[in-house]
Amino acid sequence: MIKDNILIEGEKCTAASKILENYIAPYDATVISNLKQAGAVFLGKTNLDEFAMGATGENSAFGPALNPHDHTRAAGGSSSGSAAAVAADLAVYALGSDTGGSIRAPSAWCGVVGLKPTYGLVSRHGLIAMASSLDQIGPITKTVEDAAIVLNTIAGYDPMDSTSHNGELPDYTANLNKPVKGLKIAVPKEFFSKGLDGQVNNLTQAAIAKLESLGAHIDQVSLPMINFAIATYYIIVSSEVSANLARYDGIRYGRSANKAKSLLDAYLETRAEGLGAEVKRRIMLGTYALSAGYYDAYYLKAQKVRALIKRDFENIFEKYDVIVGPTMPYAAPKLGELGDSLSAYLADIYTAPVNLAGLPAISVPCGQVEVDGSKLPVGFQIIGKHFDEARILQVAHNFEKSRQ
Ligand code: GLN
Repeated sequence: MIKDNILIEGEKCTAASKILENYIAPYDATVISNLKQAGAVFLGKTNLDEFAMGATGENSAFGPALNPHDHTRAAGGSSSGSAAAVAADLAVYALGSDTGGSIRAPSAWCGVVGLKPTYGLVSRHGLIAMASSLDQIGPITKTVEDAAIVLNTIAGYDPMDSTSHNGELPDYTANLNKPVKGLKIAVPKEFFSKGLDGQVNNLTQAAIAKLESLGAHIDQVSLPMINFAIATYYIIVSSEVSANLARYDGIRYGRSANKAKSLLDAYLETRAEGLGAEVKRRIMLGTYALSAGYYDAYYLKAQKVRALIKRDFENIFEKYDVIVGPTMPYAAPKLGELGDSLSAYLADIYTAPVNLAGLPAISVPCGQVEVDGSKLPVGFQIIGKHFDEARILQVAHNFEKSRQ
């Protein structure tokens, strides 16, 4: 199953937006050509938050994907349908995209494995752009080994993506069974601040204790700049969104307001009726943050803080092999429970900093919590150095095996 913001030639690609409701993809995304060459069979396209903007799946123009563990709850966003499909055994694997957590969040809430690769490892050619300096395609699977197998096929240099990494890549399945004994694991204290649910905290601590019992060396560390990550992320995302979505003007792609009296009216009407509330909110915020007079105070400042967040991670990776913590601050909420955008933005607290730093991270199931009579899955996040996917897959695989 493929998230419906990745192009498959001749198939509809809606990005869960009315503005692309009838848009037919004119070519294959590079990940799709790679999978076709490997003999993949595509079962369908999956629901998402409109243009991948959201943390719950509820921003889709076509209604939310439901969580297979409890149909009154959100599957998680934005790759909602991809995670729900794998969790419900509709497909062996799915592709998602992750700009601030969109592979890891729904994977955590649906109880499956989700890998967000290093920025540049997997081609973005044919992925409908949200925030180009952060977007990355990755696999959602039942097991860590499956994630490694899919990554082997989709990773690699692509001249069609100017940010594509050109280097030797390992076989990501090769080191899965290598023991974690002796590995140095960092646990940032900021990941355990007051927004973290008590039961999720307990499962996360148990996962860390499990890695310690397997012989890993655990230390508490600090990522001080992480407190600014959400503000930084939403300024950068909105700015890039406002630029990337300018192309949906009713002339070049998809929907077009056909009763407009002038060209300007055609732009305005197409966008007014074709785009949803969250997408419009971000376009407005981003246009503001990039405008003359505010650029220095918002966009430029955010870029500087982004560099500091990246440096925080790099400092830790001088001494440690991986960083671990929760994927999401709580288990899947009820549909409608988060209420406003700000609550949804705060849900990205553990995932978005990883995208700002361009690092790879995986969410692997670590148990279930009970909320109002429902048993809901929880994800454990393992973050690695740039292009060190093999390492996070190894740690995740060892952890997964230890739970069987
Ligand atoms: N929840 C985040 C947002 O809305 C993540 C989205 C994503 O990763 N595509 O921006």
